[in-house]
Amino acid sequence: MQTYGRQPIVLESGKGSLVYDIEGREYVDCVAGIAVNNIGHCHPRLTEALQEQAEKLIHVSNLYYTQPQAELAEQLVNVTGMDRVFFCNSGTEAVESAMKLARATTKKTDFIAVEHSFHGRTMGALSLTYKDMYRAPFKPLVQEEKFVSFNDAQAIADAITPNTAAVIVEPIQGEGGINVPSQDYLKEVRKICDENEVLLIFDEVQTGFGRTGAWFCKEHFGVEPDIMTMAKAIGGGFPMGAIAAREGISFNRGEHAATFGGGPLACAAALASIDVIREENLVQRSKEMGEYFRSELSKISADGFVEVRGKGLMIGVQFDRKCADLVDYGRKNGVLLNCTSETVLRIAPPLVITKEQIDRVVGVLEQA
Ligand SMILES: *Cc1c(COP(=O)(O)O)cnc(C)c1O
Repeated sequence: MQTYGRQPIVLESGKGSLVYDIEGREYVDCVAGIAVNNIGHCHPRLTEALQEQAEKLIHVSNLYYTQPQAELAEQLVNVTGMDRVFFCNSGTEAVESAMKLARATTKKTDFIAVEHSFHGRTMGALSLTYKDMYRAPFKPLVQEEKFVSFNDAQAIADAITPNTAAVIVEPIQGEGGINVPSQDYLKEVRKICDENEVLLIFDEVQTGFGRTGAWFCKEHFGVEPDIMTMAKAIGGGFPMGAIAAREGISFNRGEHAATFGGGPLACAAALASIDVIREENLVQRSKEMGEYFRSELSKISADGFVEVRGKGLMIGVQFDRKCADLVDYGRKNGVLLNCTSETVLRIAPPLVITKEQIDRVVGVLEQA
């Protein structure tokens, strides 16, 4: 249906942080399928786990127990520090699940979201997604616009009403331009939510699984949400989503479901991916390579170059003008890049990226 604005290349294979097109050209991948391929392309552990599971059992539904699902639930509770999980199939579905859980738990209806937020494209998540271009054709949505300025805790306090079920924030905004809040912001938001008996949802769909140099971005700010969403990197590239909630926040039997949610194949992929992140120390690596990448980028002096920001390997390069041309230049010179919010280059490579590959990317950007 021609809904995607695509780059004019056909990708065929990938290994680690490199991908190859059908003409054999090599690219350093600084997009990683939009912060998805955290463990790199076609990691042998992931490929083997999928092959093995595909020979055993691919789908049975949630009318039954399966071992991969139980094991993954335990792993997710470990890595998130939360108590309960629900499995679904994408980021937007995780946000829908969080919204339903917040409504069911609080018996209240409204949500407060933040300007420049991105939470997904289905009707509920879309209601909380800032960009008018995404929302306008689909109104009426689940609720009227209720967006407050980014990084302004007082604005959230002022927006809360007796109908507010939850506040939803990305700990670092992704699609909105890699916006990092001040260190106290989320702590203040947590306090305001507690004082008003409003739930706090962290959308960690993009920031999760080592992307920011922590397992989850919330760790950088020392704040625990009531509910958190995950997707993107969870399955190492295999589609999956999940929410985690603290004890006391849970659906009642039958209140929510997903036919494919937590299927054996997706769970096997996620288990392999979590193993790789642990065994290859990718969280620490993301932190170190991110620091190196940002410091190298900061050395570039060029017209229109404003700042480099982010945490770990979730990096934004702010320009004072549109940066789509840089994406084209990068592609023609062997680097895949993404431009978000028109003026921000979003750099989110696999966490296995090497220093040499980072140098290649910085070299191409310097030339550009
Ligand atoms: C990508 C993204 C989503 C939506 O995920 P999909 O899998 O595309 O539905 C939701 N929230 C955030 C923060 C995202 O980055």
